[in-house]
Amino acid sequence: MTDIDLTAPSWELGEWQRALRAQFPIITAHPDLAYLDSAATAQKPQAVLDAVHAYLTTSNANAGRGTYPWANRTTALVEQARERVKRFLGDPAPEGSAVHFTSGTTEGLRTLARDWLPHFLADGDEIVVPVADHEANIAPWLEAQGQLARQGVHIRVRPMPYQRASGDYDHRALAELAGPRTRFVAVTHVHHVYGGDMNIHRVRRAVGPDAVICLDAAQSVGHQPVSVAELDVDFVVFSGHKAMALPGTGAVWARRARGPRFTPGGWAGTPNTVGIASLTAALDWLEAAGTDRIERWTVALAARLTEGLRHLDAYEILGCQTSLAAGSPVQRRRGIVTFRHHAIDSGDLGFILFSDGFMVRSDQHCQGGAGERTGSVRVSLHVHNTVEEVDRLLAVLATLG
Ligand code: PMP
Repeated sequence: MTDIDLTAPSWELGEWQRALRAQFPIITAHPDLAYLDSAATAQKPQAVLDAVHAYLTTSNANAGRGTYPWANRTTALVEQARERVKRFLGDPAPEGSAVHFTSGTTEGLRTLARDWLPHFLADGDEIVVPVADHEANIAPWLEAQGQLARQGVHIRVRPMPYQRASGDYDHRALAELAGPRTRFVAVTHVHHVYGGDMNIHRVRRAVGPDAVICLDAAQSVGHQPVSVAELDVDFVVFSGHKAMALPGTGAVWARRARGPRFTPGGWAGTPNTVGIASLTAALDWLEAAGTDRIERWTVALAARLTEGLRHLDAYEILGCQTSLAAGSPVQRRRGIVTFRHHAIDSGDLGFILFSDGFMVRSDQHCQGGAGERTGSVRVSLHVHNTVEEVDRLLAVLATLG
């Protein structure tokens, strides 16, 4: 994880941000609305829309089947997209790794749990499951346990330990829990409710060099630099649609290091070629924009929102509480801020906020059973969001105090 020094304000990025915001047609067409739900799905810049149009008007065909130019171009496009994903993730050994396209993180995790994990584990092995993270990163592993049990292979599921106040993993407790039979650890890069970067390098330190780590990067790819070399993980699973590609896109990156080769089973049929074309364009766009700058911008906006909320007595902020006011120059919260009003139901608060033009997410956010019991409102930020939007939101929230 990168520490961000908020004493060096990111506001010098203002001009860069205005130029990027102008590239989102749906945003510029609705100046009275503020889209604050990028953690659910991201809006698309013009370059992605252009790539979709260009593909459908010049090359649309099936991949890996025909021998005429459109089909050949489509086959090449899918292969090039695999290489694009590897480069985007800073893959240090792309010749040995694999990329499998999916409809999103849910399908990616499910495919790994169904087609890879059962071949990797033996009777008596243990896996760690992040029980307060997104359900998509819990249920598939429990299903794999059931599938193995039906084959007479009994594995033990260890719930990931958490620090309750911050939503972070408890890395010390994890180190105590992990042993030689801990062969697989499912983790999340950035928590979709608490917004914290989950310190994956500390997970690696806690579980040792031999455990396979599978990273749910749904909330980090597209929002911050993600380097598989730095993170030292074995699988990265993400949603293309949260990284500005079309809905119905995602990928699993698999390092060729441990266990059997990842070969998704079954005949998948026609790939989402236009979605894959949009993913390549989205990753190109994000890289040119600079994921480090996107991270600085969204972290600074989230810090401003957190800071403002701390001064409003009616609200409780969930998860990581660090902010500028704590006197710390370092902010672990990424671009997600989730909170509750002490008297207004989160669903009602969502409606009230939309009447003022703010699109937020309000409910329990598909969090696993060990997570929150009551709903909350989640604000998730991206590069098109502005300081003015955050300040306007705080002003509206203040009136509800
Ligand atoms: N994991 C996390 C951390 C998420 O935030 C989400 C989406 N909210 C998912 C998994 C599921 O992603 P998708 O809907 O694209 O399958």
